[in-house]
Amino acid sequence: DVLVTFNRHLRTRGRGKHLASPSASLNHAPSPRFRHRRGSRFIVRAESDFYSVLGVSRNASKSEIKSAYRKLARSYHPDVNKEPGAEQKFKDISNAYEVLSDDEKRAIYDKYGEAGLKGSGMGTGDYSNPFDLFESLFEGFGGMGGMGGGRAARNRPMQGDDESYNLVLNFKDAVFGVEKEIEITRLEGCNTCDGSGAKPGTKPTTCKTCGGQGQVVSSTRTPLGIFQQVSTCNTCGGTGEFSTPCKTCGGDGRVRKTKRISLKVPAGVDSGSRLRVRSEGNAGQRGGPPGDLYVFIDVLSDSVLKRDGTNILYTCKVSYIDAILGTTVKVPTVDGVVDLKIPSGTQPGTTLVMSKKGVPLLGKSNARGDQLVRVQVEIPKRLSSDERKLIEELANLNKAEPANSRR
Ligand SMILES: [Zn+2]
Ligand SMILES: [Zn+2]
Repeated sequence: DVLVTFNRHLRTRGRGKHLASPSASLNHAPSPRFRHRRGSRFIVRAESDFYSVLGVSRNASKSEIKSAYRKLARSYHPDVNKEPGAEQKFKDISNAYEVLSDDEKRAIYDKYGEAGLKGSGMGTGDYSNPFDLFESLFEGFGGMGGMGGGRAARNRPMQGDDESYNLVLNFKDAVFGVEKEIEITRLEGCNTCDGSGAKPGTKPTTCKTCGGQGQVVSSTRTPLGIFQQVSTCNTCGGTGEFSTPCKTCGGDGRVRKTKRISLKVPAGVDSGSRLRVRSEGNAGQRGGPPGDLYVFIDVLSDSVLKRDGTNILYTCKVSYIDAILGTTVKVPTVDGVVDLKIPSGTQPGTTLVMSKKGVPLLGKSNARGDQLVRVQVEIPKRLSSDERKLIEELANLNKAEPANSRR
């Protein structure tokens, strides 16, 4: 399906943000796949397949979908990705995830496509905030600071951009939490000019090009009429003033510096968790507040213990004799090696629960998940002649006394 949006107006700035609502209402237009009106400008956008948006197959499991979303959302989140189109991509990814992560919506989508969701009144995309979704999945601490800011006039105080840091943790540190010293590089206020950007001892003068307005107006004649476009003054960069730039920071008022900060990683984080460290991002400009630091976490996998949310999965092998008679095995856990009783008559593939040996719940570290131990029963491929004799004896015993007479 192709979605067509007519746009008769000259767009100035705003990165196409206002496109969202007109395209949403035109979505409902029935079958003409592609309408072309003479003289109008239009933008064509393919209505993409949710599975290919997330890069997963149509029979992908819920966890595959979740991890695909996490990976993509992290690289396209507007906080970290400032490239044009990233924000739209982030929204598309979130829309796709919103539908595919919901069994009911996914079933409708699989059967009838996106149109089916609209027919069922469930809709897609335009009704929810992709940032809420992101927040809920990434267990962010606090809201998104500075979102949507930064478009203020250039001479007003401006909040600094957020900064990101990728932190790789080993398995156990992620489970129990850890205090890490990390080195970050970010913009800090320039000491030479005190953040003003002007060479000390000089005074700013009013910009002659814009008369101190910081903006210039230009008119364009088109067949549709005259359009006035307001743009930032190039001479002063929108500040309305002209000052001799500080030599240390080149007039920006900020310099890139490296700093070590101590980071408390709470117990229970996982790959995809994000920590927010308030005000440790880039310094603001003209007295604006600093941005935040976002720490994205990746957890290395362990060679024997596998993590599944707050549970830990482990497979232990026992001999068929131990499975029949019962035994006690040593099982590695995040708390060290622990004895686990295998009851007699344990069936192959049985899962035994080692309660509270899993991962602490994020933010509630006194509550813990479990370790789930899957019992794999090993049948010998070769028997000694003595063993064979005994097994045969057992087989004869079983023939003489049928299974249902036991117990
Ligand atoms: Zn100017
Ligand atoms: Zn400076």
